[in-house]
Amino acid sequence: MPKPSQFDAVVIGAGFAGLYALYKLRSLGLKVKVYEAGSGLGGTWYWNRYPGARCDVHSLEYSFQFSEALQQEWIWSEKYAPQAEILEYANHVADRFDLRKDIQFDTRISALTFDDASNLWIGKTQARETFSARYCIMATGCLSVHNVPDFAGMADFQGQLLHTGQWPHEPIEFHNQEVGIIGTGSSAIQAIPIIAEQAKQLTVFQRTASFSIPAHNAPMDQEYERNVKANYKEFRQHNSQRYAALNNNPSHVSALEVSEEERREIFEQRWQEGGLPFLASFNDLGTEQEANNTAVEFVHGKIKEIVKDQDTAELLCPKTVMGCKRLCVDTDYYKTFNRDNVSLVDLNTSPIQRITQNGIQTSDREYRFDALILATGFDAMTGALLAIDIRGVANKSLAEHWENGPANFLGLTMSGFPNMFMITGPGSPSVLANMIVGIEQHVDFIADLITFMQKNEKFRVEANSESEANWVKLVNSIADKTLFPTGCNSWYTGANIPGKPRIFMPYLGYPSYVEKCNEIAANDYRDFEFS
Ligand code: NAP
Repeated sequence: MPKPSQFDAVVIGAGFAGLYALYKLRSLGLKVKVYEAGSGLGGTWYWNRYPGARCDVHSLEYSFQFSEALQQEWIWSEKYAPQAEILEYANHVADRFDLRKDIQFDTRISALTFDDASNLWIGKTQARETFSARYCIMATGCLSVHNVPDFAGMADFQGQLLHTGQWPHEPIEFHNQEVGIIGTGSSAIQAIPIIAEQAKQLTVFQRTASFSIPAHNAPMDQEYERNVKANYKEFRQHNSQRYAALNNNPSHVSALEVSEEERREIFEQRWQEGGLPFLASFNDLGTEQEANNTAVEFVHGKIKEIVKDQDTAELLCPKTVMGCKRLCVDTDYYKTFNRDNVSLVDLNTSPIQRITQNGIQTSDREYRFDALILATGFDAMTGALLAIDIRGVANKSLAEHWENGPANFLGLTMSGFPNMFMITGPGSPSVLANMIVGIEQHVDFIADLITFMQKNEKFRVEANSESEANWVKLVNSIADKTLFPTGCNSWYTGANIPGKPRIFMPYLGYPSYVEKCNEIAANDYRDFEFS
């Protein structure tokens, strides 16, 4: 048997979180190894190569800030960067900081077991390679386990079956093809307008309509870029004080305080600006049903203006609270339904009965497809962690620890799982904030904690169970003040995966989260136990 490799820290995943964790922990003088399941780095941006994939956060914000030289030298071509450019950026970061030599690709971790006697994590890869490490950094991603619904007959389909989150690397062409797509979340909403331009016929199967705001994407405004780059540090600092660490110009006014005419003007202005900041049009869209209704009504009006066939428009009008699912950001999504070669099927009135060898059998009829695309999302936030057999103190499994939902402290650690850290885990702002900003904050926190341990000659750290229970309560109590936990069935609550415990997973509010982390660090990591 080959001897297990020994590291100070292993990082699981080579997306943005894994790359920065490697860079930072290496700078502490640690021997670090990154294991990555894919054949390349980039995480989300490596796997999600579907047509139209691009970020919904402005390029000058969705990027690392740890290196001033890096943020000055990289040139983004568009306001919202396309997937290929973000992937190129991730590769540039890896090369620029010589990270690649410590990343092992094509390696999926199957088990991580904590050894109480040595205070080490013992890991196993699917290829049965073994390793040990003092620290385990789970940079496994929030949206990295794709969800394939359990449709009857899935294996029967004879055409091309695709999932947006596992898109092939070779170019896929839909010219002259009959194409079906299941799902109308962010991925589908980006892909549909582009596939519609190629396909002979595109049929969209919708269960729940999503709210989508136009991106108004454009080539990067050079003057804006110059201004940001001239004061990048201040720009980042300013954004870090915002609710989601985004430069979204939040309003301090209630939607119910202004006249109907003024409200309409404000919504119209935000619609014209486009993107996620639409939700910041007023300060109570996420907390007051009546305020939220005004935004819903405005967007319904837009959909009915854009989509000519009013039956289709009505189906496309979401009936849920706006923002309780991730807001989608699109280019010509609603307009696409005016095309003769695009049709919408309402799965509530015509449910899918099975997948057939030709396509989809709904309660109404059989649809025949050359290609069938699943845009059915992910087992979000916990899926990638639970896919590994993680066992902490006394061999307790993470699955057991999370039986009733992802118990954690700060979204960073779990009691009973010493020296294991999650990056943007459940219980952290993660998907409800600028992910790269969150990643840097988490990794910096962990690096400071490890430095503290080294200085104080501690070998083991974990959250105590009381702080963990209090944290879960806090995350929920914040969410419960909003319309989001109950306003729809979203992946934020695990509702998209049958049998998954229903609990609102992200922490709402980036700056207050960081204040809490800083306060804990300043108090010698109060709420953590060291030995
Ligand atoms: P998603 O938002 O979870 O959407 C999945 C879609 O599939 C939903 O419309 C869902 O319907 C449908 N679906 C799932 N299971 C189904 C079933 N059994 N039968 C019929 N329909 C089913 O997934 P996503 O679009 O991949 O997006 C996930 C997240 O990734 C986004 O919320 C966003 O955070 C991120 N993302 C971001 C970008 C960007 O930056 N622009 C782009 C893509 C994705 P129901 O709603 O009824 O469950």
